[in-house]
This record gives sequence, C-alpha cells and structure tokens, in this order.
Amino acid sequence: MTARADPLTDAYVALGLSREFAAAIASGQDADAIIETWKADWRGDLTGKHPAIKAVLNGNATPEQAKSLIEAADEHPDLVLLVAEGTKTLQWVAAVLKGFRSHHPAVTAIIGGADPGVAANFLDLKVAKSTLDIIRKGGAPIAPIDSIINDIDKNIRRAMSDFKSMNAEQKKKILKASRIRVKGSQQVKIERYGRFLDLISQVCKNSEDPALSISGPHVNEQKCPQICNNCKGTSFYRGYYKWECNGCSSSDFSQPKVQRFSDITKSENFDSITSALSIPASYSRKEKLAELRRMAKKFKLPLMISQRNGKISRTTKYNRGSSKPAPKSDFRKS
Ligand SMILES: [Zn+2]
Repeated sequence: MTARADPLTDAYVALGLSREFAAAIASGQDADAIIETWKADWRGDLTGKHPAIKAVLNGNATPEQAKSLIEAADEHPDLVLLVAEGTKTLQWVAAVLKGFRSHHPAVTAIIGGADPGVAANFLDLKVAKSTLDIIRKGGAPIAPIDSIINDIDKNIRRAMSDFKSMNAEQKKKILKASRIRVKGSQQVKIERYGRFLDLISQVCKNSEDPALSISGPHVNEQKCPQICNNCKGTSFYRGYYKWECNGCSSSDFSQPKVQRFSDITKSENFDSITSALSIPASYSRKEKLAELRRMAKKFKLPLMISQRNGKISRTTKYNRGSSKPAPKSDFRKS
C-alpha cells in the first residue's frame, strides 16, 4: 500500500487513522475490516507496516486471520509477508506453519520451491499428507477479478438448481416476477429461465471486465417468428399447427438473439440486452437499470454500471481484459 498524497486519504487521516490505514480505505478496501483492525486490542502498537496488518489493509486477510498471523510473523516474517502481498494464500501459509513452524531452513527452502515432502524427510518431521498436499499445490491466489467471476457462475448455478427443484406453482411465480413467459412444459420453463440467468450473468461479468462480451438468445420467444433460418425471409403465415415461412414454407425459425457486443455503455447495446431480458422498451434507461439491479441483487451478483441522464457508465475498478475466465460452463444441460 503506497501512501502518497490523496485528498480522500487525507480525509480519513483527519479522522484519526494512520496514513497506511487511511490510504487502504481510500483505495476501496473493506473499510469495516480495516477499522475493526485499527481498534482491536490485539493489534497493540503494530502499524500498517507489520506483515499481518498489511494483509488486512491489502484485502488478503480478515482481522481474525491477521490476529493469528501476528504470532507467526514473529518467527517467520518472510512467510507472513507472502500473504500480505498476495503472493500466497492464507491457507498455504497456514499449512507451511502447521508442518514446519520454527524450522527456518525448511520454511526458506519451501518458499523457494522445495518439495515439502523432501524437507520433512530430511528433518525427520512427521507432516500430515493433507498438509503436504496443500503446500504442493503452490498456494497461488486467484486474482480477485477471477474469484468475482467464479462467484457469479457459482450463484447462477445455484439459482438454476433451486429453480429446477421447485414445483410447478413456484416456478410460475418466479417466472412471472421476472416477466418471463410461463406457458409451456416444465422443460420449456427451465429453458427460458436458463436463458434469463445466462444473460443476466453475462451482463454482470461484462460490468466487471469490459472485455467479456455479451451475446445469446432472448429470454422469451417471440410470439411470431422474425427470420426464417432457411431462406432468411421475414414474412410468415400461421399454418394449421405452426408458423410457416411465406417464401419457402419452412418452420425453422431462430430465437431472436442479442448480437455479440462488449460495450454496454453504448445506448443501443444497453437497450438490446434489457429488451432481451424482457424489460419493457418503454422504460427510461434509469428504470431499465433499476430493473437490472433488482435482478442482479436477487442472485447476489455485482452490477458495476451506473446511469446519469440516460447515459450508462462503468463503475468497475478492473481493467479491461484483467480476468481469465474459465471456459463457459453450460449449466443448462447439467
Ligand atoms: Zn423461408
């Protein structure tokens, strides 16, 4: 945490916090955790320079975890610093401490990449296999943006499995609440809800990392077809059983789709995705965004965009392309 001049930092310093603590809050770290640490008796007179405290200020440990790291830092400051700087996970450091505490050469060797099994063998130490396994995995932390993206996927998968386990009446209620068509079999309902979850999760991911594009079928089917997949005709008639193309009599129509885009701040993109989510086109951008926010909130998803005078802008702190998303999981098929 660098503590260079910044008006917001100065404002927190004026409250009575040290510059390191103030700078951490100003930079957007968890203010509650930081203040809890500031006030904690266990902190004593340790400053933000202490590796365990630094871990909280950098958002790499909770106050509770920092407390446990303070003791360890007396013996192995270099190890605790790895957590503070976000080079290793707390879990990895805890495993090294569990297996090799007080054995300085072993800890140094393991930080340098030595196999913990070899180190244990050499020192005639009995270290549990589960501990060795954790250390061997390397303890590289997941970048925060990636864990946000992973959490979005996790919450969406949970919402889908919750929905599948509901009875028909509950499903209907859920669909209605989000303006999703309720007609059709259970399977059709599940497909619509899947499209809904897919689009809303893409919007949230794109709001975090503008490099993640958005595309896909609309939630609701159109009441009548838009484009013939066979001849690309756009004129149709209602046959006895189904719609048919005026040009070629085909009944192969595609679900209307959101064309791939990544700039949600562009009005036409924002309008196209909200309409795919069946938010009324008559709504103002402000109302549309409020609806999106309501949807995202329901699934505990972050939505990092805001609106002013009808203009959408981003509030994400992440750079474009900073996430490395796992291959897209097709939860609808599971
Ligand atoms: Zn046709």
